Amino acid sequence: MALAVQGPQGGVTPDPLGLQYTADGRKLREGRLVSAKRPALSQGVSTQSSWAVVGATLMERFDAPTDYSGNLVYKSGVLDKVLFDGGYISAADTSYHFFITDHQGNVRVVADASGAVEQVTHYGPFGEDLGDSAASLPVGAQDSVGNPYKYGGKEWDSALGLYDFSARLYRPAAARFTTMDPLCEKYYSISPYAYCANNPVNLVDPDGARIWIWANGTQEYILYSQRELFNKDGTEYSGEDKFVLLIQATLNNLYDLNDEYISEVLDNLEESDMNHGIAFDEKYTDSVEAYGFYGKDKANRGEPVGTWIKLSFKRRNADGVDLVPATILSHEIKHSYDFDSGKMKGLVPWRGEGINPAEISAVNFENRVRVRLRLPIRKRYGAAIPSNMMESPWKKKTDKK
Ligand SMILES: [Zn+2]
Repeated sequence: MALAVQGPQGGVTPDPLGLQYTADGRKLREGRLVSAKRPALSQGVSTQSSWAVVGATLMERFDAPTDYSGNLVYKSGVLDKVLFDGGYISAADTSYHFFITDHQGNVRVVADASGAVEQVTHYGPFGEDLGDSAASLPVGAQDSVGNPYKYGGKEWDSALGLYDFSARLYRPAAARFTTMDPLCEKYYSISPYAYCANNPVNLVDPDGARIWIWANGTQEYILYSQRELFNKDGTEYSGEDKFVLLIQATLNNLYDLNDEYISEVLDNLEESDMNHGIAFDEKYTDSVEAYGFYGKDKANRGEPVGTWIKLSFKRRNADGVDLVPATILSHEIKHSYDFDSGKMKGLVPWRGEGINPAEISAVNFENRVRVRLRLPIRKRYGAAIPSNMMESPWKKKTDKK
């Protein structure tokens, strides 16, 4: 995937900037596009510039490209930085540089291994650059100390005035993303381009990922995102909370079932602007519960901001149905998803008669997981579920618009 963009500078027309991404949005290369004409050579790579295939036939030349490969950053084909959690190593002199972040994960100070301050950056509430000590250095020196990982720890592209928020590009000067929120239809009262629901002081949007697991021992929220665990400040989780690790393994197992619909439900929660918490609670004899939870401050009271799943991993429920973590979690995850996607409203609340449609929705989802784990499907929720409300667990299904 490739994209050519014009820099924001007026006056002299600069070379457009070329960007290449993987299909899932990870940046592979950035550089000045010198020519968009097909060159004589089929594909050549040199240290100062390189040609890349764009589409089927067109070739583009990147001058002084920056290449991204995992945690390695190359400039013009030469290793420049090795990124690690909380800083980077300069390849030129193998010197270490450490990030000191504030409570939102914004990089405020870069310090060397001895603790000497190398760079200080100040931000406005939306991540606007209010001053960077490296900016006053001569251009060449800026490059050697200028750390581009700034607001929210995201990479700042000074040529474009944009932050790379993985899934989207963010322009702090406008407090807006350059593309729409993929889930914007759920938040029609907020601009689809808005950052953090226009509330950047109280909220952060690390990459739109929103499944939190509560670690009881250390009393903290751990973020589950794309199979990995992260602390609230965005650094990788290295704790050993058994419940947190069990939930991670179970969510990963659900993805491993390779069912498009199961993955889609999980993806939607990961990308949600709401928060979905999962916590251990031994009080819940029949395992679980999901409901909207509420902001603590008075202004937000009554505003549901997500769901809480509480579970205790009982082996068998009141209906005599055998349970395993994947069936328990999938059932509750479906309640969270129905709430998140606004479907809960369409499901008539249960008043003790018949079967709650929300539960039938969750049992049908749970059965998708059951058949793929070769477990018997569940046909009861308190009472027998009418067969015409049971969905085929093998049916191809998608909620994509
Ligand atoms: Zn339920």
